Amino acid sequence: MAATVERVVAAEASEKQMSAKKVLSAASPLTLRIVAECSVTKARACELILPHSAVSTPVFMPVGTQGTMKGITVDQLDDLGCRICLGNTYHLGMRPGPDLIEKANGLHGFMNWERNLLTDSGGFQMVSLVELSEVTEGGVKFKSPYDGKEILLSPEKSIAIQNSLGSDIMMQLDDVVSSTVTGPRVEEAMHRSIRWLDRCIAANKNPDKQNLFAIIQGGLNVDLRKACLDEMTQRDVPGFAIGGLSGGEEKDDFWRMVTLSTDHLPREKPRYLMGVGYAVDLVVCVALGCDMFDCVYPTRTARFGSALVPWGSLQVKHRQYAKDFQPIDPDCQCPTCKRHSRAYLHALFKSDSAAMHHITIHNIAYQLNLMGSVRQSIVEGRFPDFIRTFMKRLFPSPDQYPGWAVDALASVNVTLE
Ligand SMILES: [Zn+2]
Repeated sequence: MAATVERVVAAEASEKQMSAKKVLSAASPLTLRIVAECSVTKARACELILPHSAVSTPVFMPVGTQGTMKGITVDQLDDLGCRICLGNTYHLGMRPGPDLIEKANGLHGFMNWERNLLTDSGGFQMVSLVELSEVTEGGVKFKSPYDGKEILLSPEKSIAIQNSLGSDIMMQLDDVVSSTVTGPRVEEAMHRSIRWLDRCIAANKNPDKQNLFAIIQGGLNVDLRKACLDEMTQRDVPGFAIGGLSGGEEKDDFWRMVTLSTDHLPREKPRYLMGVGYAVDLVVCVALGCDMFDCVYPTRTARFGSALVPWGSLQVKHRQYAKDFQPIDPDCQCPTCKRHSRAYLHALFKSDSAAMHHITIHNIAYQLNLMGSVRQSIVEGRFPDFIRTFMKRLFPSPDQYPGWAVDALASVNVTLE
């Protein structure tokens, strides 16, 4: 009964939205067209039109490091339907360096990738990878791991590098504090991130070609998050990221900060939740109103022989698959599942890194398909039912549902039985 009501309301709602709104200031190379909004949750399905093709959201964006996606080629990525992936500014800025990449017609030319690219600011990588980093008002100071030279990554420098890379979406340099840190440092970082956003906006040489996203900070503190949202949403940036989460905080804090953020972000601009890639997190955070996600998890876990499947994961290395001639997932249409058996991948994994490539392809396909199914269910007005089916498949019994996910979904009117 409840499901029928949901469906009717959703159908009415999506009819209204078919007259889709074109939004955003004239100068921005980004248009967000809202195709459908879930009538029960905060989920929405959009067309995000970027300089190198349209992207259907919700979207998962795979992560490359030095312009190459580990274990997969750009052609394979394109064939899987990927329309936006991440380039890593820190690695690219160090080696081969922005000048060389600019000469190669930017990162698109360098990678030979004709779809969209999102680059990070480089700051997070520095703080997390380089031990000797120090944050001052000027920027992030650190010693190059390649030649030991001291480098200052300022907001201006980060944008200059990202301008050279020519990405479709650039991220502001923010003052990153671990999500488990509390106290005055969190407030300082939040205010500094706002000041750095203004410096990034001023430094962008290509506002007509490259979109700069702000990153909402404020740790796990409701007042600081709200203050950051209030300030940053006054800036006319093309999109917003929710930052400073997925760093080891309690999941209960995580989802509350996500939903607080989406409550205060403008409806007509894309919302990117950084560093999130587990299937449950993706589905729940779509319900909370997020549009874009990235995470190294699906590609990293593939290198350990872990294949993502609707019932969790499948460890190709395990002996039980040595004589199993089924594909990883019989319902998966990816090139790996079409061609190879679990037994073959099991044998290959022992001797050849090609097994990792096959699993990487499958895992990226899994993420993209998951988001495609989520999107379809939003458009068809049956997202709440999709969530229930998805959770049932993933967890053998309802008492295994993570409490935070149950609470988060209940907050957007979806009860799991
Ligand atoms: Zn597959």
